This record gives sequence, structure tokens and C-alpha cells, in this order.
Amino acid sequence: MDAMRILHSKQELHDGVQRMAAEIAQAYGERPLSIVSVLTGSVVLVADLIRELEMPLRVGVIEASSYGGERTTRGDLSVNAELMFDIKGRDVLLVDDIFDTGHTLVRVIEKIKEFGPRSVRSAVLLRKHGRQEVTAQPDFVAFEIPDEFVVGYGLDYDDHYRNLPYLGVLEQDDLDRHKDLVAAGTDPGA
Ligand code: 5GP
Ligand code: MG
Ligand code: MG
Repeated sequence: MDAMRILHSKQELHDGVQRMAAEIAQAYGERPLSIVSVLTGSVVLVADLIRELEMPLRVGVIEASSYGGERTTRGDLSVNAELMFDIKGRDVLLVDDIFDTGHTLVRVIEKIKEFGPRSVRSAVLLRKHGRQEVTAQPDFVAFEIPDEFVVGYGLDYDDHYRNLPYLGVLEQDDLDRHKDLVAAGTDPGA
């Protein structure tokens, strides 16, 4: 695969996640935390984040999926909490990859609240500048990024590129190359 423009290197991501973990630890102290990972984009972040948190915690998952275009979250958003553990009376920290328009996080928080948690806060790896369409804000943000489509470190394009250790910008030439590779039957993420 040809080089993609790197927005944040592996080392920068590590440092940013460590900084955010310190803020989270400070906010909760020794209170046991119920971390809920919003599938699928947050799995890489959650794996790294929990190893920076030296506090009692559990890790569960919730699924948010949108039936829309490949690169946007337009269309219907559905939240599936069937895989999540019991959060009644718990302090929940939702973890997602990116806060873009904010609709996903708002919908997931609404769903979480139906189960009677003691508190709900949210942490995201990225917040995209100038895209918000909701008033709610994530409580913890590792990086502010410009309005560009990024992949890697859990974030996908058409379910590819989640495994990149860095955060890259998927530009038009990367997209063209992706389509050529798919047409040729080659896995572009490999
Ligand atoms: P929101 O509902 O905040 O607009 O969008 C959040 C979801 O849209 C993210 O969880 C992610 O799945 C997707 N998304 C938004 N911006 C990007 C981006 O730049 N790159 C990737 N890979 N996904 C994005
Ligand atoms: Mg997502
Ligand atoms: Mg996606």
C-alpha cells in the first residue's frame, strides 16, 4: 500500500491516549468504572486505554450502526445493547473513536440511560473540528482534528484500515487506489 498522509503517528497516539487516561483516572479516583466500547471503531482505543487505567473497571460493548454511505453516518442509526452487561447504578464511561456530528454519541447515551446507570460520561479519541450538530459534548477528548476523513487505529473505510497503527487521512488518490485494489480482488488493508 502506498503511503497515506499521517495525521498522528503511533507514538503521538500513544501519548494522547496516556494523557486522556490520566484525566479519566483523576475524574473517577478509585470508583469502579464500567467502560462501554462503541463497536467497532473504538476497539483499538479501548484496548490501549484500559491498560493505562490502574483502577477497578469492567469492559463491555454496545453496537451503533448506521445504514448509510460508506464514509458518512447519514441514514438511520441503530443502537443494539444486547451484548452489554448490566449497568444499573454504575458509573459508565462510553468510549468511541470519533465525535463528528455527535449524533452517534447522543443516541448511544439515550440508550444507555434507559438502563439506569448512576452516571454516564464519554471519551473519544478524536473530535472533528466544525462538524457538531448537537449540543452535547464528549467529556474526554484525546485529539482535536481538522475536517478530514481519517482511518487507522480502529477507524475504517468500508471496514478496512482499522489495523493501521497510525491515524491517516484518506484522500481522493487513496480512495481511487482502494477501489482499484477491491476491483482486482486484493485486500486493501493488507
Ligand atoms: P457522528 O455520529 O458523530 O457524526 O459520527 C460518528 C461516527 O461516524 C464514528 O463513530 C465513525 O464511525 C464515523 N466517522 C465520522 N468521521 C469519521 C472519519 O473521519 N473517519 C472514519 N473512519 N469514520 C468516521
Ligand atoms: Mg462508530
Ligand atoms: Mg465506520
